[in-house]
Amino acid sequence: MAKYNTLVESLSPAELKALQWKKLKYHLDYLYKNNGFYRRLWDSKGTHPDQITGPEKFRELVPIIRKTDLLNDQQENPPFGSRIGVKPVQLAGVYWTSGTSGIGQELYGHTTADTLYYGQTWTHGLYWQGVRRGHRFFNSFPGSVGQLAGPDSMVRGLMLLGANAFHIGTAPTEDKLRHMKRFSPEHLATVPAYLQRLTAACEEKGWLPREVFPELKSIVLATEAYSIPWAEHMEEIWGCRIHEMYGSTQQGGGVAFTCEVGSVKDSQYSQMHLLEHLSYIEILDPLTREPVKEGEEGEVILTAFSREASSLVRFATDDKTVYLPGGTCSCGRPFASFLAGNIARYDDMLKIKMVNVWPAAIEAVLFTYPEIAEYQGRVCFNEAGQEQAILTIEYKADVPAERRLALKPELETTIRSRVGVFMEIAEAQSMLPRFEFKVRRWTDERKLGRQRVFYTAN
Ligand SMILES: [Zn+2]
Repeated sequence: MAKYNTLVESLSPAELKALQWKKLKYHLDYLYKNNGFYRRLWDSKGTHPDQITGPEKFRELVPIIRKTDLLNDQQENPPFGSRIGVKPVQLAGVYWTSGTSGIGQELYGHTTADTLYYGQTWTHGLYWQGVRRGHRFFNSFPGSVGQLAGPDSMVRGLMLLGANAFHIGTAPTEDKLRHMKRFSPEHLATVPAYLQRLTAACEEKGWLPREVFPELKSIVLATEAYSIPWAEHMEEIWGCRIHEMYGSTQQGGGVAFTCEVGSVKDSQYSQMHLLEHLSYIEILDPLTREPVKEGEEGEVILTAFSREASSLVRFATDDKTVYLPGGTCSCGRPFASFLAGNIARYDDMLKIKMVNVWPAAIEAVLFTYPEIAEYQGRVCFNEAGQEQAILTIEYKADVPAERRLALKPELETTIRSRVGVFMEIAEAQSMLPRFEFKVRRWTDERKLGRQRVFYTAN
């Protein structure tokens, strides 16, 4: 195991928690004195940092904030809101969220120190993943050096680490593959849907990725859930380890990363380690607001105590994850973790015939089939007024007609048993849209006059 941050990675889970608490306490005091947004908010609840003596008091006394609180503050105190916490002259740049939920975009200022901090979150994960100075790293996240802090922070991380970075996110697939063949990547960053697409594009050329890119050591994924068989299949085809990270514009960079173990080992999901010395992450039951136990799922509540501008304290991310305590990974690092492969958004959830259905669960079935290139999901009412879910499947061009016919009942049965709802399988008549970063595969037509698009960014 190669430690990146020897000091922190050598702590015990209890020592790490103590360090984290000390930093959080300092930050709460600092914000109360210097940040109008938090002082007003906490004063309105009768909360003073002196009362916050431990995690229970923190949970009890510090209010959770949501996107709407931040947008209201921005509207009342344009353009950044009173939570910016620094003078405009101290800002080195601004990010905004992608705003596809339709209720507006949050603005995040960052100072020069914040920019370095964002990069440092990534250096941990990149190093654990095996990236070293001079390694050829292909960044296929679109939007790098742009509005979103996630891909941008990776660019800064690669720079700090001294990797030889190729930013190909905006190039067409054909050009990406040409550049990759020319320069032989050692690492690749992308999202599961796009890895699927790259794999299909290689197949069309008759390329076996592990032979065409023999030096590839790792692929790091972000933003979507995926199944264990899918990840194992990708490791086989690409001849390298699959990794995963979780981050957000709200946090400013990476929150959690897989270690050298990768995202799947021995047909089990492994862990994304939380950088607990840089953020305070709670994983709470969305109903009781109590911390979930080992192996249970809950909502990620984010407190970013390492950034100067646009601090967040107890921000409800709407992201769903599974919690694992520190010291439970074979690497021996002390960090608490998210279970790899399982990040989803609560607002992705579809309620069909009274059953909670997650697109990720459907994808875990569909993308296990090498015959499937892409799919789209639709929920609507049929003529009899009954709820109906339809999965339109695009098969790869070389899948014979009899196999397509056989797959229809097989997929319908498997999906019904896996997610508890019958979904009709239909075949796409033309090519379905492909996604490079934020995936939007589901439409819900039950809400008249307002077609809601799922699987969107916040
Ligand atoms: Zn580990």
